[in-house]
Amino acid sequence: MKYRSRDYLIENYKATFLAKKYATPLYCYSLKKIKKNIEEFKINFKTINPLICFAVKSNPNTTLLSEIGKLGLGADVVSIGELMKALNSGIKPDKIVFSGVGKTLNEINYAINKKILLINAESKSEILTIEKLAKLKRKRIDIGIRLNPNTDAKTLSQISTGKRENKFGISEKIFCDLVEYVKKSKNLNLKCLSVHIGSQILENKPYEKMLKVLIKVIKKTNYQFEYIDLGGGMGINYDNNNKKLNFKKYSLNIQKLTKKFNSKIIFEPGRSIIGNCGVLISRVVYIKEGHKKSFVILDAGMNDLIRPALYNAKHRIIPVRKNSKKSKKIYEFVGPICESTDKFSTLKNFQKLNEKDLVIICDVGAYGMSLSSNYNLRPKAAEILIKNSKVQVISKRQKLKDLI
Ligand SMILES: *Cc1c(COP(=O)(O)O)cnc(C)c1O
Repeated sequence: MKYRSRDYLIENYKATFLAKKYATPLYCYSLKKIKKNIEEFKINFKTINPLICFAVKSNPNTTLLSEIGKLGLGADVVSIGELMKALNSGIKPDKIVFSGVGKTLNEINYAINKKILLINAESKSEILTIEKLAKLKRKRIDIGIRLNPNTDAKTLSQISTGKRENKFGISEKIFCDLVEYVKKSKNLNLKCLSVHIGSQILENKPYEKMLKVLIKVIKKTNYQFEYIDLGGGMGINYDNNNKKLNFKKYSLNIQKLTKKFNSKIIFEPGRSIIGNCGVLISRVVYIKEGHKKSFVILDAGMNDLIRPALYNAKHRIIPVRKNSKKSKKIYEFVGPICESTDKFSTLKNFQKLNEKDLVIICDVGAYGMSLSSNYNLRPKAAEILIKNSKVQVISKRQKLKDLI
């Protein structure tokens, strides 16, 4: 995804052409880029040979899931819906892990019937629920327990999950007690310790701290975990500041752990696999003069991409066709939704824009479409995938008649 002379291209297609043919707002993904990310992920962690379970919540599109499955990845799911979708997309149950704090009886029952690799439990009550069901079915169920390592992920507070004030996981003390309990259970087989400290992590420090806590806790339990599930959270570069997680260094740190405890590693990456593989193409509906700035009103809104409104997240916005005129005005890129938080970015020195021009909102492959809604009764955007130099519509634009 790059410019060729003045035009922005997704693989071999001009964004202008795609916008005309498939209309806007339009989510567009590159399979080449997905393959490249997965390849890189595998190479970086080659020595620990992990099971990589794609976090379905970051992008649950069936075609994308099936492509990701074909590339050897499993799935990390957080609801029965995601579990069904992962299975439907051809991902094998023995590569699926189930996370989440509020799994219902129905969800646990389904997961047991499908014989997935692990149910990662997040509370004592959940463990007891799984045990009760397993007993009824006269089965022994493989589970993991999610530890809350009380480590600061140094990311946006809204997407931090590993501090003790967060609802996720189980504190060290209770974790150790629960290991003792599960060890004695006839219907539970404790196989995994899992953690996930947050998302969009760009520094190695939080992971290093987390690994230290793991070592301490595992020693304390004196239990041989077959799997250690380290979660996801690896960040990507949304603005051009080149801050980057050092995967090699992280891998070396993990090796210390695997050597000590002889466990297999599971990862649950979402954003780092798919985040920079998708763009949102949007058209300027109106340009309106405001106080000291111009509002560039796009046809994409917070219902299509909520991250900026929800977490104040930043996404680069760039023109689909470059010109050489700079705007003297400050541009505030906003959507059409009736909420003041429906704005994407405020930019100085953007090129001069006109109504009907097209722009690209970058890096929306993760938590873009998956967090979209019908707010203001707007139909969901279409999604297309460039695969082997061909365009495939992987989810149709919702029809107004389905909403009314
Ligand atoms: C959201 C989530 C992930 C994926 O996080 P990314 O930042 O997208 O890598 C992994 N594991 C769990 C348990 C999650 O909730």
